[in-house]
Amino acid sequence: MSIPTPANAKPAAKSAAPEAVKPSNFLRQIIESDLEKGTYAQRRWAGTPGDAAHHAKGEPDTAKIRTRFPPEPNGYLHVGHAKSICLNFGLARDYGGVCHLRFDDTNPEKEDLEYVNSIVDAIKWLGFDWNGSQGDYSAAPYQASDYFDFMYRAAEYLVEAGHAYVDEQTAEQMRANRGDFGKPGIDSPFRSRTPAENLAHFREMRDGKHEDGSMVLRAKIDMASPNINMRDPAIYRIRRATHHNTGDTWCIYPMYTFAHPIEDALEQITHSICTLEFEDQRPFYDWLMDRLCEGGLLANPAPKQYEFARLNLTYVITSKRKLAQLVYDHKVSGWDDPRMPTIVGLRRRGYTPAALQLFAERIGVTKSDSWIDYSTLEGCLREDLETVAHRGFAVLNPVKLVLTNWGEVFAAQGGDAYLEPCTQPVLPHPADGAPVAERHFTLGKEVWIEREDYEETPPKGYKRLYPGNKVRLKGGFVIECTGANRDATGNVTEVLATVIPDTKSGTPGSATVKASAAISWVGVANGVSAEVRMYDRLFLDAQPDAGGKDFIESLNPNSLKVVTAIVEPSLANAVPDQKFQFERHGYFVADRVDHVQGTKPVFNLAVGLKDSWGK
Ligand code: ATP
Ligand code: MG
Repeated sequence: MSIPTPANAKPAAKSAAPEAVKPSNFLRQIIESDLEKGTYAQRRWAGTPGDAAHHAKGEPDTAKIRTRFPPEPNGYLHVGHAKSICLNFGLARDYGGVCHLRFDDTNPEKEDLEYVNSIVDAIKWLGFDWNGSQGDYSAAPYQASDYFDFMYRAAEYLVEAGHAYVDEQTAEQMRANRGDFGKPGIDSPFRSRTPAENLAHFREMRDGKHEDGSMVLRAKIDMASPNINMRDPAIYRIRRATHHNTGDTWCIYPMYTFAHPIEDALEQITHSICTLEFEDQRPFYDWLMDRLCEGGLLANPAPKQYEFARLNLTYVITSKRKLAQLVYDHKVSGWDDPRMPTIVGLRRRGYTPAALQLFAERIGVTKSDSWIDYSTLEGCLREDLETVAHRGFAVLNPVKLVLTNWGEVFAAQGGDAYLEPCTQPVLPHPADGAPVAERHFTLGKEVWIEREDYEETPPKGYKRLYPGNKVRLKGGFVIECTGANRDATGNVTEVLATVIPDTKSGTPGSATVKASAAISWVGVANGVSAEVRMYDRLFLDAQPDAGGKDFIESLNPNSLKVVTAIVEPSLANAVPDQKFQFERHGYFVADRVDHVQGTKPVFNLAVGLKDSWGK
């Protein structure tokens, strides 16, 4: 495959050889074929969005393709949006193009700055920049409401060219006359108005002469079309609402199906990628582009729409409305609750941009709906953290272990109070050439171990502490278990053992005594207590909202358990958002919100070491 390189093309900032690293998919094939054929090679770009005349004055577009991500700023982005972001920004990056961030704010609902900011942050965090700004994050995203003037002009053009009419039927009449799959629609009695009459009425609509809902502007296409979306769809409605950007300038607003293709065209988008539910809208998209290009309003070639299957993830809900319900009904602590599939929630849970990008690549894009198993997402995080997350010891369910002969063995060094310095590697396999870093901590007479590491009567195959058995305290000495003290109800209060001298890890004597296991531990002298939030899936049902089910009913009552753990000093000194592997337990992140370095450690379980769900 060869990508034609126009003489003036600047190398894209972060271009990668696509075919070398990325598995192909139908969208990549379409783009590669368009680049080969030069479908978009003649396009011009005036530096800002605009109509045909505007772009004609511009330079040949140095961006080989233009894609866009067009969120409605009405909620926080979720993992499904992350797929769309990685797809659109990733394709632009890989093919020397540009991806636009456009707020789709044509609906005059109150736009919330909180949502706008969170969307910008999410895209930045995922590692992308927008509108060709090459890392300048202050670049303003585009907003669809800036195009209202053009949209109105395009509507007047359609009216004048006989392609649109003002319909005064009631909403019920319109619905009844639309027909259905088996029945063609019936022409509106207002369909045969002249362009002049329609223009006069449309201007009256704009000038506020008519009530909300009393009339709409409709495209004049075909009331008998087998595609119901082509049966004269409404393109403008009357709606007295103050818009956050345009205030009270307008009392008519374009319908989404009309606005969206125009937004794409003004921005010179080449490949407009959306989810499958818009497939039936594609004929109207093309119809509208054809009309406005033939009228000379929009630059040729027009953008094309392509559909892919939206992400459905098991045990997860991806609807902004339903996620909002979880927040407002206090089922979770907020949009960034680590159990939420929002980007802010995933981030607080310990997900990394690399893990989400890997996930998007791994699931790929398809043309048919399917469910992706949640473990695929978890696997991507594990894969990313495996090599980079610092290791550390944390005891999640602590019981004290007393080394009864400690004072005797170290009599010369201070007896019972003696603390033996120990180390363990920060990473078991540091990257090539990277220095081997060590964590430092101390071993003394008393250490914390996991309660499950002691059994009075060991089950078959049990290799940890039981009377008479020898194990190594990782990085420390081999010890021999002698028993345990219990309280009146029989609970173990202290496990007892003796330390075997001269068996320290890394010393010549370390191999002299055989230990059946090596266990993690934290010294009582320098362990720090930490809040650890053990998260599990938010829902028990793999498809919590499928088929209109009430997803609230399948909320997992045990999706959060908080434990007080004891962690080694290096973990207590974590900075917020730092990721770790707590040896044997899984990957954890220092909570971005509540963790205080050194004084109040708080960790979230990001993902276990192995996929254990359902086992
Ligand atoms: P919701 O239904 O949750 O409100 P939406 O599709 O209305 O989502 P938008 O803000 O309109 O949200 O979406 C912005 C972009 O993200 C759209 O191009 C849409 O196709 C894409 N998108 C949204 N949800 C998913 C998903 N689950 N999988 C893939 N892409 C998605
Ligand atoms: Mg939407």
